[in-house]
Amino acid sequence: MPKITDLLKTKKITFSLELFPPKTDEGYAKLLNILPLLCCLKPDFISCTYGAGGGSRSKTLDIAQLIQENFHVPSLAHLTCVLHTKDEIKNIIEEMKNRGIENVLALRGDPPRDNPHWRPGKNNFQYSWELVAFIKENLPDHFSIGVAGFPEGHVLCPNRELDAQYLKNKVDNGADFVITQLFFNNQDYFDYAARLKKLGVTKRIIPGILPITDYPALVRFTNLCGASIPPKVHDIFKPIADNPEKTLKAGIDFCVQQCQELLQKGAPGLHFYALNKTHPVDVIINALNHA
Ligand SMILES: Cc1cc2nc3c(=O)[nH]c(=O)nc-3n(C[C@H](O)[C@H](O)[C@H](O)COP(=O)(O)OP(=O)(O)OC[C@H]3O[C@@H](n4cnc5c(N)ncnc54)[C@H](O)[C@@H]3O)c2cc1C
Repeated sequence: MPKITDLLKTKKITFSLELFPPKTDEGYAKLLNILPLLCCLKPDFISCTYGAGGGSRSKTLDIAQLIQENFHVPSLAHLTCVLHTKDEIKNIIEEMKNRGIENVLALRGDPPRDNPHWRPGKNNFQYSWELVAFIKENLPDHFSIGVAGFPEGHVLCPNRELDAQYLKNKVDNGADFVITQLFFNNQDYFDYAARLKKLGVTKRIIPGILPITDYPALVRFTNLCGASIPPKVHDIFKPIADNPEKTLKAGIDFCVQQCQELLQKGAPGLHFYALNKTHPVDVIINALNHA
């Protein structure tokens, strides 16, 4: 199974998908049913989140292993250091190695809703760069390591310049590639890539893409994660917010245009937040392939 760093050496553009571990047995069974369909889309890799939104942490490695063993698609296991001790992280990365997982997205994560005041102590990591450095130190050659990037700056970071410097710090500590937070204004992505280039970051900055399928949910989610919704998106989706079919169609059209512009102007790939569904990512990818 090629590591993501190997893929990046040979492929100018990658296309990848992101899933999350379902909370229920029913959700897990559904995911098992759609995995073959997602793999038919021939993604270069599939990532699986870790504990995002309170989802089960233990399922991430199961899903990452299953994707590789049953579907022969490289998997990227997300790992957040929030709430974990350094010893626990050591055990998890060793377990990843034993399970044949060679790609990890090293993240800080956020304190969960039921423990919002959790703060790191001396046996925890405070920032994701520490997790990157720890993985590099403990298993130097095993993993391709990705990190999260924020075209509009992380929600807690006072400005975009400083945020870019923190990103550079993750790369200086061993990160091999970057996957970004969702965004809807492509200029934010291009400006971010230019800021990082100016700082000497040469690793790939893969844009994270969310097809819009539910406008009220989008407004709620972007408020939490700090991504902004440009006026043009409000103008398209607000008037049709209570019409799922029209929203889906407009979401596909918007996403195809967004992706086409990103690729035309040099983005090195597309990472789709597929949210455990084949549709509408399948339609968007077909449209891009046949454009
Ligand atoms: C592609 C992608 C995938 C994600 N997957 C998951 C997931 O699977 N599970 C999940 O729970 N969450 C996930 N997240 C969300 C992520 O965990 C949160 O956005 C989190 O708040 C920040 O994580 P980070 O790794 O960027 O943290 P860090 O890189 O540690 O940054 C956190 C904050 O600290 C600041 N900072 C960084 N370095 C320093 C420093 N040296 N000094 C001072 N301040 C600093 C940053 O500016 C930022 O404000 C994902 C996000 C993205 C973009």
